[in-house]
Amino acid sequence: MSLKTRKVRIGSIEIGGGLPVAVQSMCATHTRDVDPTVAVARALTAAGAGVVRIAVDSDAEAEALAEIRKQTKGAVNLSVDLQESWRLATKVAPHVDKIRYNPGHLHHHEKDKPTREKVAFIIGAARDHGCAVRIGVNCGSVDPEVTSRHPHDSVAATVESALAHCDILDGLKFDQYVVSIKDSDPRKVVEANRAFSRARPDVPIHLGVTEAGLPPGGVVKTRMAFEPLLTEGIGDTLRVSLTVPCDRKTQEIEEGLRILADVKAGRLTSKGFQIKGLNIISCPSCSRVENEEFVHLAERVVEMAQFAKDSEITIAVMGCRVNGPGETDDADLGLWCGPTHVNLKRGPEKLGSFTYTDVLIRLKVELEAIVKRKGGAPA
Ligand code: SF4
Repeated sequence: MSLKTRKVRIGSIEIGGGLPVAVQSMCATHTRDVDPTVAVARALTAAGAGVVRIAVDSDAEAEALAEIRKQTKGAVNLSVDLQESWRLATKVAPHVDKIRYNPGHLHHHEKDKPTREKVAFIIGAARDHGCAVRIGVNCGSVDPEVTSRHPHDSVAATVESALAHCDILDGLKFDQYVVSIKDSDPRKVVEANRAFSRARPDVPIHLGVTEAGLPPGGVVKTRMAFEPLLTEGIGDTLRVSLTVPCDRKTQEIEEGLRILADVKAGRLTSKGFQIKGLNIISCPSCSRVENEEFVHLAERVVEMAQFAKDSEITIAVMGCRVNGPGETDDADLGLWCGPTHVNLKRGPEKLGSFTYTDVLIRLKVELEAIVKRKGGAPA
């Protein structure tokens, strides 16, 4: 926690200004399934979540959100995750305490409208309903215009995008915002958040390693980023993103609280740890996940790929079409899930669409070929 950051209210809690770091998670239930979503939101809060996030991508989901709010009001601090549908801000703001938008997703709809106007629309809705806002920058979906200025420096691109949006919000005289800059590489998370914090020591920071993957590896990667940052006083709220099934989402809260306690006690378990050999990244899943098989698929990929554990290869496994296509581009092999089929890629090249069973067979063939090319042992 930083003493220098300003305080931001999110429902019943405040973060920033030296207050305790709030731990967050996200519901992975379908938002339209009101009862299960309410149950997960309550379970996360009971486990210690200060804020619970829910994704909303349609009018129907915004209507479900209103009911979820009715059933959790006063008990859960709700945040909503807007991706491309920024116009939904006015429909969700009456029912939540915080709105997260991704600067890299604003260009998809109404392409001719300037970004500043779209942000002003979101901020207007937030202001009218007393919501906080998170500018949520993600390495896999940075605004293409910003990326074109930093084609080989993703850290510079994410930091520039975050700073530019801070300037927009400052210009709108709105100060109840926080910033997150997430990457699947913990070293980049450290670098980007340090740079941002130096430039804007007043802005509260939400820490996260995106697509950290399955535990226990996902926890280790998260600790590699959080331990140094929290030790330096960077971070006012955090989320540990783990690929776990919906009924085990409270593990994200438990791990987050454990990291905070360990950092406070000086128990820095990730010191000296390096990411070497096979790197499997996978998203934590959320309401957008297209098939509940996703978590099981990620587990089977990890199991199948063990023969390549010493090779410097990255495999990305993503749960949906919203972030899947973009966030698998940088991996040697990428999988993103559809309702019945999984799309397989080699770098940015599409290899085809396979059933959840067959994709493992083709993935193994592709992985063996890369291992061979790199001079490793075959399976
Ligand atoms: S990739 Fe899709 S399913 Fe996975 S966390 Fe991101 S939005 Fe949710």
